[in-house]
Amino acid sequence: MMKIKFWGVRGSIPSSGALTWQYGGNTSCVEVLIKDRLIILDAGTGIRELGLELDREYERIDLFLTHLHMDHILGMGFFKPFFNPRSVIHIWGPASFNETLENRLTRYLSPPLFPVRFRDLPCTLHFHEISRSEFTLDDLKIKTDYVCHPGPTIGYRLTLDEKVLTYIPDHEPALGAINFPNNNEWTSGFELAKGADLLIHDAQFTCQEYKHCVGWGHSSFKQALDFAALAGVSKLKFFHHNPGRTDEEIQTIEEDLRGRGIHEDLTFGAAREKDTLTL
Ligand SMILES: [Zn+2]
Ligand SMILES: [Zn+2]
Repeated sequence: MMKIKFWGVRGSIPSSGALTWQYGGNTSCVEVLIKDRLIILDAGTGIRELGLELDREYERIDLFLTHLHMDHILGMGFFKPFFNPRSVIHIWGPASFNETLENRLTRYLSPPLFPVRFRDLPCTLHFHEISRSEFTLDDLKIKTDYVCHPGPTIGYRLTLDEKVLTYIPDHEPALGAINFPNNNEWTSGFELAKGADLLIHDAQFTCQEYKHCVGWGHSSFKQALDFAALAGVSKLKFFHHNPGRTDEEIQTIEEDLRGRGIHEDLTFGAAREKDTLTL
């Protein structure tokens, strides 16, 4: 069983405040707990609270990074287990032709941007560079692939006991796809999301906003919905909310999409900080 908890659902930059507190202002971070195994998807600012509220010490923690844009790594230096000498942490992230994952992350986790370097942390760290790959951690199957977003970016498909969770927080499948959302084989992320029980997917823009932001690497709510329907997903969580999107706006957009009666066989809703789901 996978126990999923949202710790950060916002995109681009943290946006705490009176207008965003219901869905939350922390950037991308999702916990996936499988018995004694702790998996974390992205290290946005949500990871700080996750680290503080861990109920126990885990023998090993696996941190899966989709890419290295700041909103997905910003919380890393504030993750408590990094400062515990007993922690063993595996960091997985996209390979790049130029530099190792560790070196790229060190650009942020070193002075002058951050006071502590990786090599100064007391925990044991292992770095893994991945691209289009399939591997297992005990019973958990992990499939990854590059997806359409600026810079090397991967999406994750986690399968346990035939239940599938797909995580693609930053994604613009409509870019360059003339027939989107009609052509499976040529749609970025399709194989990762195919038949998933739960898809956590980028929904940064409204349709109107997207017209001015083509090529920025993100999707509209409607595109996320169309992508999920194309892939035959059971449940979709809109994720990576625009930093300027108020709680009220999110609710209105959701109601509007429901009112239109499209993709009625698909359950959908906006991801909210601290919400939990079980697969
Ligand atoms: Zn992002
Ligand atoms: Zn990004």
